[in-house]
Amino acid sequence: MSQPPIPEHAIRQVVIVGGGTAGWMAAAAFARLLNNGYTHVTLVESEEIGTVGVGEATIPPILSFNQMLGLDENDFLAATAGTFKLGIEFVDWGQRGERYFHPFGRFGQDLQGVHFHQLWLRERSRRALPDIAEWSMSAMAARAGRFGRARPDAQSPVRELFYAFHFDAGLYARYLRGYAERGGVTRVEGRIEGVDLRPEDGHVRAVTLADGRRIEGELFIDCSGFRGLLIEGALETGYESYAHWLPCDRAVAAPCALPNPREPDPFTRATAREAGWQWRIPLQHRMGNGLVYCSDHLADDDAAAQLLGALEGELLGDPRRLRFTAGRRRESWNRNVVALGLSSGFLEPLESTSIHLVQAALQRLIALFPDNRFDPAERAEFNRQMRDLYEDVRDFIIFHYKATRRDDTPFWNRVRTMDVPDSLARKMALWAGKGRLFREGYDLFSNPSWVAVGLGQGTVPQHWEPAVDALDEHLVAQALEQMRAGYADTAARLPSHGDFLRATAPSP
Ligand code: FAD
Repeated sequence: MSQPPIPEHAIRQVVIVGGGTAGWMAAAAFARLLNNGYTHVTLVESEEIGTVGVGEATIPPILSFNQMLGLDENDFLAATAGTFKLGIEFVDWGQRGERYFHPFGRFGQDLQGVHFHQLWLRERSRRALPDIAEWSMSAMAARAGRFGRARPDAQSPVRELFYAFHFDAGLYARYLRGYAERGGVTRVEGRIEGVDLRPEDGHVRAVTLADGRRIEGELFIDCSGFRGLLIEGALETGYESYAHWLPCDRAVAAPCALPNPREPDPFTRATAREAGWQWRIPLQHRMGNGLVYCSDHLADDDAAAQLLGALEGELLGDPRRLRFTAGRRRESWNRNVVALGLSSGFLEPLESTSIHLVQAALQRLIALFPDNRFDPAERAEFNRQMRDLYEDVRDFIIFHYKATRRDDTPFWNRVRTMDVPDSLARKMALWAGKGRLFREGYDLFSNPSWVAVGLGQGTVPQHWEPAVDALDEHLVAQALEQMRAGYADTAARLPSHGDFLRATAPSP
């Protein structure tokens, strides 16, 4: 069979710098989508430097990344010691002693074009209503420690259940590495010590390794982590800090054994602490834990002691300390360098969004994949979309802090009383009045997510939309009760999360 001619300006050499989650996600995606016979992909990583290794909770769009790669989900779970995730339980966020669930998927059903949460708000003014989580399939399954895949046939009791995964970051990178190498990506082990720029336009021409090897490319993907070796080290792109809104700047991570009985919960837990918050991510073989905190209000040793004092099982390995500044690179794509992952920005993992931001950047890069003339309009569009996405996630994370009612420590007083970006202030004002929410542009979080956090933190809108008043109160009350009973009944018929995982495991 004859091959089509190679396009005149085609990119033939792509170099990925870094082999953490971002680097191997890029390599796997390119192996699948740039498999054109003329674009060769090389990935350089340094075992000596290592990876950040802590990104272990995801959100539902990861399913489409896996589908794009053609991965078998059971195989993926076995290889990464993965578990299912139905949402995040927030503890002590609105006020000490409170908890709420941010589930994946929606709440209830809209009626006659009126959003469910609007119906719920009016109903709440008529009688004492249970937590809105009782109208979420994911929340009800999570609370019961149950899971099932939605299937159109009668084999599964559940018709719709949104989920994502928890997985071991090291195993995930290894799994994607196998996939990418089988797909033709070349891996080079070595420490990059030099970056060679073209004098005429400042594009990166090559990277040089400590042993003198030189790797040339036309397009470079900077996945070198917080250091941003190319995007910042070589191109000095600049960083826009969000620290005045997101002052947490450190984390300490410490995995531990699963508590007995070894049944991992199908959800992440985020517990607010004195000067930050603690994550708890259940995997098949261990629990991931970490404390994200603000160094203005908590010393490093005290942070480590707080975390270790709250572990539910035996500590596995030494605690790992990390430093960061919330924010993003001014341009994720500068000249012939595209930054992915931590080199392009960092938002604390409160809503598990970093791995998604890698995926979202890859989708956009594939859609705007350049030729070697590098059209400035394509680059600008990529940067515009990524900025919108970062700002949307940023606002949603700030909302968790701003909407707290806690006033028991200097940290919580600081975030509760801080100014917020105009984009968020506008959104919060519409929410506070009549619970109005509008999804815009590249917003990642849809209305149910804002409803979950808004109500969960105790910021209940003053009223509901007038459109609700056109609906008969008794019919709405009846419909709400039917929905609630349906979710409870379905959740009770699902297998336990542990049983489901055991059933997906490949036979030995
Ligand atoms: P890294 O893992 O740091 O990889 C960098 C790579 O570059 C490594 O391979 C390194 O060897 C290589 N490298 C660097 N310098 C050189 C050099 N000179 N020569 C050769 N190679 C080099 N995300 C989520 O989605 N969910 C979460 O729950 C989550 N939790 C997090 C918790 C914390 C505390 C932190 C800090 C992050 C968290 N993240 C989370 C983010 C997630 O960990 C990262 O987005 C993800 O791991 C991608 O990291 P990376 O590949 O960009 O960087």
